[in-house]
Amino acid sequence: MAEKRWIPETLFDDLGFRMTYEVERVLYEMQTEHQHLILFEHKFFGKMLMLDGATQITKKDEFVYQEMMSHVPLFAHGNAKNVLIIGGGDCGIAEEVLKHKSVQRLTQVEIDASVVEFAKEHFPEFTKPVFADKRFESVIDDGMKYVAKTDRRFDVIIVDSTDPQGPGKVLFSKKFYTACKRSMAPGSVMVTQNGVPILQSGELTSGIAKFRQLFADGSCYVAAIPTYIGGHMAMGWATDNPRLRETPLKTVAERYRKAGNFPTKYWTPEVHKAAFALPRFIADLAARSKSR
Ligand code: SAM
Repeated sequence: MAEKRWIPETLFDDLGFRMTYEVERVLYEMQTEHQHLILFEHKFFGKMLMLDGATQITKKDEFVYQEMMSHVPLFAHGNAKNVLIIGGGDCGIAEEVLKHKSVQRLTQVEIDASVVEFAKEHFPEFTKPVFADKRFESVIDDGMKYVAKTDRRFDVIIVDSTDPQGPGKVLFSKKFYTACKRSMAPGSVMVTQNGVPILQSGELTSGIAKFRQLFADGSCYVAAIPTYIGGHMAMGWATDNPRLRETPLKTVAERYRKAGNFPTKYWTPEVHKAAFALPRFIADLAARSKSR
């Protein structure tokens, strides 16, 4: 019997360790215009997507990240109509955002058309409802270019990017956050994929420092995603409305009830509140993110 292939996640090679996954079946593999893309079947995590050696999404645990990147900013805001997703080509977050009836228009700006095309084939559970929803607009463009030129104003911006390497690097720059701020409506909020603090502490401190140079409130909230190795994942938080982070549990629960208590597997009003209670080492990293 042929030796099974094992695929390493090479994201933390500089830290001297690798997670490696045994491949049941390679479903799709190509070098796209922007990055190396591989989708394979894993016996425990199910379908797994890796871009440039970094795990993006697995069928087993995608719900944690997708729900926390969408429901936390939307229920904190409470009345978001115009939402922008930067990246997110697998459409997992788009599917969660469109569960909010208050959303009138959702624009997704993904740089790599291949990711969206392959997601239509391999993640129909996300792409089917999303592309059938007339509120959804799919744009293929560099997120930096899009926010630099758009004249639209967004209530919530969700930056579901790859890590700060290759095409995703610019999405961690002050230039990008400045352009995002310009395209944000009053009272709006931006959330970002901001890495795993214990392994990517610099990513968090530099991100929050940039937020604090541009916004009244720059911080993060956390969740644990099993295949984003290293414990807590940090999601960046940037807004000129400091009260959003303090939205009372009662208000979040009431907004969820009004939204129809749609089913979730991770997010709850209590988890929403708890996600902003940062473990001390992460709170210290955030506190060290000086700018003002
Ligand atoms: N949740 C994943 C994570 O945390 O690593 C990210 C998932 S999503 C697939 C990331 C997407 O960002 C990819 O499809 C990638 O093509 C897209 N992306 C990377 N750089 C981009 C850019 N500059 N503009 C728009 N999309 C970009």
